[in-house]
Amino acid sequence: MERIQQLVNIDELTGVYNRRRIVQALSEESNRCRRTPGAFSLGIMDVDLFKEVNDNYGHQAGDEILRELARAVVDDLRAIDSFGRYGGEEFLLVLPQTALDGAKIKSERLCKRIQELRFKGLPSDFSVSVSIGVAEAFPDEDTEKTLARADQALYAAKENGRNQVVCCHAINPADRVMPPGTED
Ligand code: GH3
Ligand code: MG
Ligand code: MG
Repeated sequence: MERIQQLVNIDELTGVYNRRRIVQALSEESNRCRRTPGAFSLGIMDVDLFKEVNDNYGHQAGDEILRELARAVVDDLRAIDSFGRYGGEEFLLVLPQTALDGAKIKSERLCKRIQELRFKGLPSDFSVSVSIGVAEAFPDEDTEKTLARADQALYAAKENGRNQVVCCHAINPADRVMPPGTED
């Protein structure tokens, strides 16, 4: 039974939640928030220039980097946080009881930690970085909308030079994303 649960919920490459399970965690947290007070935040993390990493060091090395990166993130999270592979080199972070400012601090710590990782068999000056888009869920907001806002923030982080966290400060979902340095 445990093995079946694992196959259904866990990403084989990295050992973290798979897409199905992390999206479920997001939806569970969203439902919980409707019943009890307390904001939650969502982060989308995407590895920077990962195609180049694969091209330079091979797909195997790329796989190992994804594993190490996932482990570093899990090591840094609270028990109530959820982290999973959303697809390819993209991950989702669900942070219960966390407003945007807290999610920003946590995401920035992860960003820094990932950049400091070193990998067996790769040059000692080699590092990877990630960009993270963060959004705090609005009360009663559809999870698809929260995801879309976090994704917009991720896009802004990439545009702004990668290796950084951008938060979606929108008052309403149609509002804009603020690049770093220009926040309220
Ligand atoms: P950006 O900073 O804009 O995100 O650049 P990028 O190169 O990461 O973006 P792009 O979407 O062009 O490439 C993603 C790459 O991630 C391409 C693909 O080969 C690699 N990738 C996706 N999944 C895996 C995987 O499971 N293992 C390995 N080794 N590479 C993967
Ligand atoms: Mg990507
Ligand atoms: Mg990428």
